[in-house]
Amino acid sequence: PMRWTRTFIHTLRQDPSDAEVVSHRLMTRAGMISKVAAGIYNYLPLGWRSLDKLADIVREEMERAGAAELVMPAVQPAELWEESGRWAKYGAELLRISDRHDREFCFGPTHEEVITDIVRRAVKSYRQLPVSLYQIQTKFRDEIRPRFGLMRGREFIMKDAYSFHADAGDLDTTYRAMEAAYCRIFERCGLGYTPVEADTGNIGGSESHEFMVLADTGEDAIMACPDCGYGANVEKAETGPIGPAPPWPLDSGDAPETVHTPEMRSVEDVAAFLGVDPAHLIKTLVFESDEEFVVVLIRGDLDVNEIKLTNHLDCTHLQLASEAKIQQVTGGPQGFSGPVGLADVRIIADPTVMELETAATGANRADTHLVGVVPGRDFEAAEVVDLRTARAGDPCPRCGSTLNEKRGIEVGHIFKLGTKYSDAMRCVYLDDQGAEQSMIMGCYGLGVGRTVAAAVEQNHDDKGIIWPLPLAPYEVLLAVLNADKAEVVEAAEGLYERLREAGIDVLFDDRPERPGVKFNDMDLIGFPVRIVAGARGLAEGNVEVSLRRDGEKSLVPVADLVPKVQELLAELRAELS
Ligand code: ATP
Ligand code: MG
Repeated sequence: PMRWTRTFIHTLRQDPSDAEVVSHRLMTRAGMISKVAAGIYNYLPLGWRSLDKLADIVREEMERAGAAELVMPAVQPAELWEESGRWAKYGAELLRISDRHDREFCFGPTHEEVITDIVRRAVKSYRQLPVSLYQIQTKFRDEIRPRFGLMRGREFIMKDAYSFHADAGDLDTTYRAMEAAYCRIFERCGLGYTPVEADTGNIGGSESHEFMVLADTGEDAIMACPDCGYGANVEKAETGPIGPAPPWPLDSGDAPETVHTPEMRSVEDVAAFLGVDPAHLIKTLVFESDEEFVVVLIRGDLDVNEIKLTNHLDCTHLQLASEAKIQQVTGGPQGFSGPVGLADVRIIADPTVMELETAATGANRADTHLVGVVPGRDFEAAEVVDLRTARAGDPCPRCGSTLNEKRGIEVGHIFKLGTKYSDAMRCVYLDDQGAEQSMIMGCYGLGVGRTVAAAVEQNHDDKGIIWPLPLAPYEVLLAVLNADKAEVVEAAEGLYERLREAGIDVLFDDRPERPGVKFNDMDLIGFPVRIVAGARGLAEGNVEVSLRRDGEKSLVPVADLVPKVQELLAELRAELS
C-alpha cells in the first residue's frame, strides 16, 4: 500500500529515553524501527523499505562484481565451528544454543564456517575456481554494549560475501572488484565515506580495509593524511618516526638512583615532581593474556595500542592485570612498576623506549621511582615491537606529512583471509598438476542496518531526517490538507493516481489530520520531495511542491505536476552520479 492510512506509520513526539545518537532517535520517532529488547529491533514498514532499497543497491553491485546470491541458515552446528577452532575462541559474543537433543548450535555472527563447508563439498578442481557468493541475512552477536539503535545491535542484517581462489593473484583481482563495489554502493547512497586500512581482528588474514562513514558520533577513530591519502583505523595505524625525547635534564651517574615519590602514580605527577619531561618516563604496564603475564614498556607520553599488542601476542584475551597480580609479577604496587630488576617475565618494549638515552621509571616498591635509568644497561627487553597508538599530529608513515584524526562509522569491512579457514577445514582443490592445494579465501561484510543509520547521522536537521534519495522509504510524499472536504480528497486522489501511473515512488498522506501534524511528520520522516494539496491552492489549480532539504516552496499547476516531480527527481539523482 502507498497510502499512509494503510502503511502502519506511527510517529512519536518524544525521543526514546535510551537514544544517544541522532539515527536511533530519529528512526524511532519516524516510526521506522522499534525496540523489542536490548539490541533487538523491529523493522517497521517505513524502515524496512529503506533497508530493502539499500539491499537492492547492494545486490546490483555484488552481481556486477561477479558474486551470486544464496542464503545460509542463521543457526549453525557447533561441529563446523569446532573444525575451524572458533567454537573455543570466539568468546561471549557467540550466542550458543542447544536443541532438544542437547546438540550444540550457535546463532551465526558470521558465516565463514558454513560457506567453507558448502564450497569444499562442491569444488574439486582448479577449473571450478574462482567462486564468489554473497547473502543478505540476519546475524546475531551478543555485543557487550548494544546501543545506538541499528548501529550496534545484537541482531542485525549484514551482507556478507565470500570468495575462493586458486592463487593469491586471483584473490587480489576479486578483492579489488569488491573494494570498487563497496565504493559504488556508498557513492550511490550519497554517503561521505572513506576506505581505510584495518586490523584483521579475530577473522584473521593478511590485508583488510574498512569503509568509514565520517560522523562525529562514529565509534572508530581514523588517522588520515591530508597529503598522500593514507588512512587507517587507529587500531592499525602506523606512524612515521616520531622525534626523540628532549635531552635528559638531570645529572646521570653509573647506576639508577632511587627517589621517594609519595603517592605519585600518574606520569604527569611523577614527571613534574622529578623535573623531567613525560617522555623521559618509561610507563610500565602489566597485561594478562590467555595464559601469561607480559610487561609492556612505552614512553610516558605515548599510549599502548592493545590491538597491536593482541596481534603481537597472538592471543584471544588481553586485559590489564589487577592490583594483586601486579604485586605478584613485579613485587611492588600498581603505579610504581618498572623494568629494572624484573626477572622471569616476558618484557616487550616499544622502540621509543629503547631509544631513550636516560629515563625514569617505577622501582617496583611503594612510593619509589628510579632516575638515571639507561635502557640496555639497566634492563633489557626480550622483544622490541611497535605498540604505540597513533594520534593526531604524528608524522604520516607514507609521506611524512602530519596525520589528523577523524571519527567514523564502520559500515563495511573486507578481508583477504588467505588459507586460515580452508587449511583448518580442509577446503582443497586439485591444481593443474593434480596436486592438492588449500583454496585462498576472501570475505566482505557490509552492515545493512548500520549503513542506513549512518545515512541518517550524515543527513538530518533539527526537524528530522533528510533522506538521500536512494534510501528514502518513499521518494515523494503527497499530502492532502483539508481532507474533510470531498472535492479536495477527490482531486488529491486524482493526483495520486497520476503520480503512480507515471511510476513515481509516492506515499499518499490521506489522513484526516491537522496540517501541522502532517508538516511535522513529513519533516521528521524526511521524504525528499513533498507535494501539498490544499483547498485554497486546488481552487486555483495549484499544489505546493518543495524539497525536504531546503523547504523552498513553489506553486505548480496541477497539470504540470508529474513532469515537475520527474524533473526534481532527475536532478536529485544526477547529483549522486
Ligand atoms: P565493530 O568493530 O563495529 O564491532 P566488526 O569489525 O565486528 O564491527 P565485521 O565482523 O567486520 O564487524 O562485520 C561486517 C560489518 O557488519 C561491519 O562493517 C558493520 O557494518 C556490520 N556490523 C558489525 N557488527 C554490527 C552490529 N553489532 N550491529 C550492526 N552492524 C554491525
Ligand atoms: Mg564487532
